[in-house]
Amino acid sequence: MARSDPLKSYHAKRDFTRTAEPKGRLARARAKPVFVVQKHDASRLHYDFRLEIEGVLKSWAVPKGPSCDPAQRRLAVMTEDHPLDYARFEGTIPEGEYGGGTVMVWDIGTYRHLKEISLEKAIRQGRVEFALSGKKLRGGFVLVRTQSLGDPNWLLIKMRDEFAGPSRDPVADAPDSALTGRTLEEIAAGASRKRQKA
Ligand code: MN
Repeated sequence: MARSDPLKSYHAKRDFTRTAEPKGRLARARAKPVFVVQKHDASRLHYDFRLEIEGVLKSWAVPKGPSCDPAQRRLAVMTEDHPLDYARFEGTIPEGEYGGGTVMVWDIGTYRHLKEISLEKAIRQGRVEFALSGKKLRGGFVLVRTQSLGDPNWLLIKMRDEFAGPSRDPVADAPDSALTGRTLEEIAAGASRKRQKA
């Protein structure tokens, strides 16, 4: 059965003659899927949480960013699938373009699906359980859809494990890029060098 293009919406929203975001295309599924959390200083600052599933990055906008406290349920609004190349995109989307503003790779790494069912089925059923191996985020997390199929609102919740704790707050304590060490301001200014430790 032919699969409809999961990146159609991503491509339709962007003018690639104006934005430096990668055009990308559907990739093959890989043994070690990546996750990325991009801090996005758009009209409103938010975090884009992305999981590689079936050759694309399934994406959720998390207004407050991920929490390491299992008591905190973070709203995660599903957005359009992004190409895998997007995982390492850091830069500024021009004003007036879709998502205009600065993008930082806030955390990046691999993840492991914790259930035996396929990830596509888990998404369809509205519950995805996974363990992250990032630089800031580690251990189990769950994404749960709050309503029925088709509703964009999910919750991102930390599982109880050795990486959980109400005092751990990487959003506040580790605000800079996991890829280049840069702040949002340095990325916006086009600074190419890793920031010197003071
Ligand atoms: Mn965004």
